Amino acid sequence: MSKPILVIGELAGQELRNVSFEAIAAAKQINVDAEIVAVLLGEGALEVSAQTMIQHGADRVITVEHANLENYTSEGYGQALLKIIEEEDPYGVVMGHTAIGKDLTPKIAARLDTGLISDVVSIEKEDNQEVFVRPIYSGKAFEKKTFKKGLTFITIRPNNIAMLERDESRTGAVEAKDIDIKNLRTMVKEIIRKQAEGVDMSEANVIIAGGRGVKSADGFKQLYELAEVLGGAVGASRGACDAEYCDYSLQIGQTGKVVTPDLYIAIGISGAIQHLAGMSNSKVIVAINKDPEANIFNVADYGIVGDLFDVVPKLTEQLKVE
Ligand code: FAD
Repeated sequence: MSKPILVIGELAGQELRNVSFEAIAAAKQINVDAEIVAVLLGEGALEVSAQTMIQHGADRVITVEHANLENYTSEGYGQALLKIIEEEDPYGVVMGHTAIGKDLTPKIAARLDTGLISDVVSIEKEDNQEVFVRPIYSGKAFEKKTFKKGLTFITIRPNNIAMLERDESRTGAVEAKDIDIKNLRTMVKEIIRKQAEGVDMSEANVIIAGGRGVKSADGFKQLYELAEVLGGAVGASRGACDAEYCDYSLQIGQTGKVVTPDLYIAIGISGAIQHLAGMSNSKVIVAINKDPEANIFNVADYGIVGDLFDVVPKLTEQLKVE
């Protein structure tokens, strides 16, 4: 019998992040016959999330509830995972390429003296072996990587591998494991959340991004209106953040967030290479810019050459009607 594949689910508050379900789909692509064992770590109330993981394709779920897992620390999560890996002896471990995934997986892979392929956007098979495709050089090229042997870790970029359709009739075992998480050298005392406006950018299917061309914080209001009509999130170029039109948490690009929504609308953004690094893998790109020579048009699927203060309100009105 083949070894199981572990999928680490990730919660944002009480809700599972979509990338947890995408990780299950990725595990199935690695080996459709392998048992998919989801792992959920937290402080409590994991039962509902465990059922959701099963409905999205997990065969079995291991939950570990402990006061020291209430907030993420690499040590706490690491202790739990190392124990589960020791017991399950999996073929591989899949997790989202999120802030937690990026922090946790290299540490555990190093502890186990094994490999990690990060930021995977698709999985292929060559000679019956899985090949992982990941962007390099800020998305200007892709490389294909494979493991030589042994237990392997992969992290997948959110929004690239389609999750399996939810099947509410699926059933599976949920094992609550008692693992003592102790002797942590660091602990989170408090998390001070920033007031988030609207949809979370990293999970959004639609992103409306504004640049220096938007001219002011007031100008960003029309972006929020368009985002609301499309059910999307607002992002920004560094130009807009530097000019204080919006918060740096919205910055997309080489030194900001990397996003891959279904639809990216770039408004008043020139298309500097550092900005493209964060959004050029979006599925459909629309650019609105008054300069027909703007570099953003080189990556756009659809372009509107015009004054954004004229185009955006019209577009919002039109979409409201539809
Ligand atoms: P501009 O380049 O000033 O472009 C504004 C655009 O708006 C122009 O194309 C103009 O034609 C258009 N416009 C103006 N008025 C209107 C109007 N009324 N209607 C329609 N269009 C209009 N940038 C990022 O975005 N993300 C990063 O992560 C990032 N990291 C960086 C890292 C490094 C190390 C460095 C050196 C730079 C980085 N930058 C990053 C900055 C990047 O090089 C650009 O300076 C920045 O992206 C420019 O932002 P912008 O397109 O909004 O502004």
